[in-house]
Amino acid sequence: VDDSEDPGPRTVPAACFSRILALQPLVRPSVVCLSRSALALLGLSAQEVLRDPLGPEYLSGSRRIPGSEPAAHCYCGHQFGLFAGQLGDGAAMYLGEVESGTHGNWEVQLKGAGVTPFSRDGDGRKVLRSSIREFLCSEAMAALGIPTTRAASLVTSDLLVSRDPLNSGRRIPERCSVVLRLAPSFIRFGSFEIFMGKDDFSGLQGPSAGRHDICAQLLDYVIENFYPGIQQAHSKRRDRNMAFFKEVMVRTAKLVAQWQCVGFCHGVLNTDNMSILGLTLDYGPFGFMDRFDPDFICNASDKRGRYSYQAQPSVCRWNLARLAEALGSELNVAEAGATLDDFMPTYEAFYLAIMRKKLGLVRKEETEDCELISDLLRVMHNTGADFTNTFRLLSRVPLPDDGDSETATVGPVVDLILEQCASIEELKVVNQPTVEDCIFLVFRELAMILSMAQTDPVLFCMVADKRDAAQQLERLGRLKELMETDGDELKKKHRNDWIHWIHRYRRRLAKECDVTNDLQLIKEARLSVMNSNNPRVVLRNYIAQNAIQAAEQGDFTEVNRVLRVLEQPFSDEFGLEPLDGPSASTLGYDRKPPAWAQRICIT
Ligand code: AMP
Ligand code: MG
Ligand code: MG
Repeated sequence: VDDSEDPGPRTVPAACFSRILALQPLVRPSVVCLSRSALALLGLSAQEVLRDPLGPEYLSGSRRIPGSEPAAHCYCGHQFGLFAGQLGDGAAMYLGEVESGTHGNWEVQLKGAGVTPFSRDGDGRKVLRSSIREFLCSEAMAALGIPTTRAASLVTSDLLVSRDPLNSGRRIPERCSVVLRLAPSFIRFGSFEIFMGKDDFSGLQGPSAGRHDICAQLLDYVIENFYPGIQQAHSKRRDRNMAFFKEVMVRTAKLVAQWQCVGFCHGVLNTDNMSILGLTLDYGPFGFMDRFDPDFICNASDKRGRYSYQAQPSVCRWNLARLAEALGSELNVAEAGATLDDFMPTYEAFYLAIMRKKLGLVRKEETEDCELISDLLRVMHNTGADFTNTFRLLSRVPLPDDGDSETATVGPVVDLILEQCASIEELKVVNQPTVEDCIFLVFRELAMILSMAQTDPVLFCMVADKRDAAQQLERLGRLKELMETDGDELKKKHRNDWIHWIHRYRRRLAKECDVTNDLQLIKEARLSVMNSNNPRVVLRNYIAQNAIQAAEQGDFTEVNRVLRVLEQPFSDEFGLEPLDGPSASTLGYDRKPPAWAQRICIT
């Protein structure tokens, strides 16, 4: 469909893709950064791409790559819990698929190359800051071993669009920028929601509602191409589909477990951002946690915390339920329900398995390990510990050797961990009571007066159903302690909390020594498993922000340097080749983030 004359909103029924006939060239496109490993998936080298004078034009959709067939994907989605009807893709353009032999097949997309038939009232453009974030995080996640779409190139230009970054009412002209991204497939849960009938709340329906024939075709395509084992193993269609749904459930559970274990928060877990292959998809207002906080919200427009860190597993389950609905009669309703019931246990098993590796535990001690982990997280939360750096430091906790004085042995590591914790003053700032807290306290007082203190939690749930009551009580306890305890005393208490937990951890480590008596072997195995599961550096918001600020001034060295650091997140020496400029260590990207990191706000 040539939409160059009518880019306005419209629905496109009975189509999964629409052709884009008119390209929208950028003004003076230029390469900001290339990912060598992602380009290699296409059989390309960075040198080759840089040598081609038309490279920036090809990589930005300014000129059609010979053999490509630009098209946009039609999908729907549940946004923040409500069915939103036809959405897009309004900003991404397929170029086609590259068959690259040993590296398999890769769908290639340009994100930000201009309007598509699904752009609605948008311009289909992306600006430098959002493209840098998508580009860097795609590659960072891949290096962390977390399933993700990839990003091969980032091109910016002199074409400007005006955006209002934080809904501040100030429109700022910014450079149009384009990311070339790759995935075996970009099909998402929302791709199947175009076949959905009327939704009770919104009254909307998918543009292809009732077209079970196309739904079946899309499903066949996905299973045949991306789940060939399942296709071959089942002769009955319904059995095959159920096996597929189960596999999507397992992949999604594993993905979200991996997110939780690196402190990654996606920020916009709408069904249209849920990959049918279990990949991390669509990097917008994502965030890696600095200080551990289960209520961490990375998307400033997510006021109610629907997509907070701790909500991610249950939100993924909710999204899978929407996928099941969209697949409708392709699935067996009862079996789909049972599969959904398996989601949380599956997630928890993955989570526990990864957490054990993060703690260097090989044996399984079911209950003890769960408690050890939840206690660790509680201490981290109470003391405002940096998530990434604290885990990285735990490999320095010495194994329990006979004869040592316990306190002398753990003292140094406790001090290192406390350096990664918030100061008491910082904790007081982040733990200011909210209006909700105040309402709760009033109700609590009332309850005390009416001598029904035990009904506190129930009362709270009536006031605000956001957190569960036990958690809220714990939070208020912490708040009270912070407000009423003297700073030095609190510092001492935090130190003791850490010493206490580490003693416990060491008792648990003692059980590891039962597996084999070779202490040296245990030490080496522990160090290697911990240091390959606890990254030394992740794409924190402030690191991205440094790269963005330099790039907006025309200096792309920081983006390139950050990419190189993130390509080896587990390494103690960053990059094998010398970096042109100060090394990441001197930049301190593996240290406690600066104070301004906390004030960054992303929407
Ligand atoms: P997201 O919240 O990033 O998943 O985006 C939601 C929907 O908005 C998707 O269908 C996008 O394709 C569409 N969209 C995002 N940015 C733009 C843009 N600049 N122009 C047109 N559509 C967009
Ligand atoms: Mg999206
Ligand atoms: Mg997006």
